[in-house]
Amino acid sequence: MIKRMIVVIDEEKCTGCGKCISPCAEGTIRIVDGKAKVISEELCDGMGFCIGICPEGVISVEEHQTVAFDAEKAAAQVPHNDVSIQCFKCGSGTGYRYLLPVRHKKESLWICTQCLTSLIHGC
Ligand code: SF4
Ligand SMILES: [Zn+2]
Repeated sequence: MIKRMIVVIDEEKCTGCGKCISPCAEGTIRIVDGKAKVISEELCDGMGFCIGICPEGVISVEEHQTVAFDAEKAAAQVPHNDVSIQCFKCGSGTGYRYLLPVRHKKESLWICTQCLTSLIHGC
């Protein structure tokens, strides 16, 4: 066991919407009994890409005593191919552009790097 940063989900407040699943490249998060769970701590690298997309703000990254991150096992996970992940402005999917999670008008959305510039400049 080692001390390191890891994703922690407040299951009490989780609505089970599933939006946090796809941002996790390691396939660490699954919905179990209607709640998001870190299925295996050795798969979580603690980067927290899932944090920004949670509409409830119930994901955090905290320092915990846990197992070491297993990069090989994480790389062997089946990659997510969620076609619902699209830029909310232009509709591009991950096959065309880099997408980032963004909070906009109280919603958790995806935006592509091209549209992000116009959003920042208010276009
Ligand atoms: S995005 Fe947030 S509310 Fe939705 S399933 Fe994940 S942790 Fe729960
Ligand atoms: Zn776009």
